[in-house]
Amino acid sequence: MLNIAIIGSGPAGYYTAEAAQKQWGDGVRVDIFDRLPVPYGLIRTGVAPDHQSIKGVSRRYEAVALTDNVRFLGNVTVGTDITIAELTGLYDAVVLATGAPNDKPLGIEGDDLANVFGSAAFVGWYNGHPAFAGLEPDLSGSHAVVIGNGNVALDVARILAKTTPEFTGSDIVGRALELLGTSSLTQVTLLGRRGPHQIAMTPKELGELGHLTRAAPRVDPADLPPEAEDAALDPGQRKSVTHLRAFAAAGDAAAKPFTVDFDFFAAPRRLLGEGGKVTGVEIERTKLDENGRAVGTGDIYTIPASMVVACIGYQTSPIPGVPFDAAGGRFANEEGRILPGLYCVGWARRGPSGTIGTNRPDGFGVVEKIAHDVGAGDGPIETGKPGGEGFDALAAERGLKLVEFHDWQKIDEAEVKRAREGAPREKFVAVDEMIRAAGKH
Ligand code: NAP
Repeated sequence: MLNIAIIGSGPAGYYTAEAAQKQWGDGVRVDIFDRLPVPYGLIRTGVAPDHQSIKGVSRRYEAVALTDNVRFLGNVTVGTDITIAELTGLYDAVVLATGAPNDKPLGIEGDDLANVFGSAAFVGWYNGHPAFAGLEPDLSGSHAVVIGNGNVALDVARILAKTTPEFTGSDIVGRALELLGTSSLTQVTLLGRRGPHQIAMTPKELGELGHLTRAAPRVDPADLPPEAEDAALDPGQRKSVTHLRAFAAAGDAAAKPFTVDFDFFAAPRRLLGEGGKVTGVEIERTKLDENGRAVGTGDIYTIPASMVVACIGYQTSPIPGVPFDAAGGRFANEEGRILPGLYCVGWARRGPSGTIGTNRPDGFGVVEKIAHDVGAGDGPIETGKPGGEGFDALAAERGLKLVEFHDWQKIDEAEVKRAREGAPREKFVAVDEMIRAAGKH
């Protein structure tokens, strides 16, 4: 019997568990830990609340969670409740699937002003992550600036631009919906430090911007390269650029009271403030160098900003004793192996890139590495460790309030029951509320 601990119950965690079942069948026991009492990681707290069909993938994880040899152990913080050294002592293999929950720092003057947020915090707020539930952004100004040209920037711009009825059917948390309903914003500027051909937005998500009730995207036709140059792009990117061309062509004919402006070749250099609160962004016009990187042209201008959300990527939380690649913002690893017996997968392995589905081959990849290290019992992994039973004894000794999958099902049921009309659920946003709903108080 091989005992595996997976830390993190997001897509990377569950795909790894699924892969372990395929590899060893009944010969493996998997415990999936999470610091929250609720599973699914970014599916719950990252994927946009108005993208419910994407969240549907959690049903696949549920099927894995309900099998006999996989347990969910929520409300356990590695580093506080149990150390990595203890886990590696208890389990034959430990896989870090902890994602990349921290914002990459913007690192410019003024990034500590009030009403400046990173996307982990901002997205976590409207998605009900307990760490950010109390964010209370000030939406009383008229102009938000969103930094970055990736899908998260698109999500944030769209959420800020939508009207209350456009959230019907979403699981945006009640407090965020209420606050967004009082928003005075009339403009979001999306700052891209490179050009339309370098956006990291996918076509479907970009296309959605053209179908909002009160908001319309605006692209300056002068920013677009000659159309013939689109031929060199890969098909997905070409499709995205086609959307930008359509937005540019629509021009004033598509005007609506709320605009989402694309400002390309625009690198933020400084955030300006008054009384400790952000009021504007100083920007340097850029151009691309021969390697496709953005370089400043010296042309500086300023735009007003009553709030700023930096959507420039994420990094993994280091864990004491685990080798960390600070430049990459992830664990130092070789194709998922940190050391024999300690592995990482998903964003914790490769950084924050790719789609949810990218984590599936990643999960299979790390299981292959574990299988290799187990060998025919002659590999560098020492097997025969106590596994879950050992953990249970330690948890009892420490008085940990474990939330198992059947406890999560109670939380789930309670959230569904208290949903506002038309919403799939109303999430609990505080850990103690979740614990209470699980009947564990
Ligand atoms: P991302 O795709 O890496 O985009 C980050 C953006 O920030 C890029 O445009 C990047 O520009 C820019 N940037 C980075 N550092 C900057 C700086 N210092 N100043 C100005 N701009 C800067 O990251 P993401 O949007 O956070 O998304 C993370 C992953 O989740 C991606 O794989 C994404 O596709 C995925 N995701 C998918 C969906 C969906 O499918 N619906 C939704 C959300 C997220 P450069 O290109 O110039 O570096």
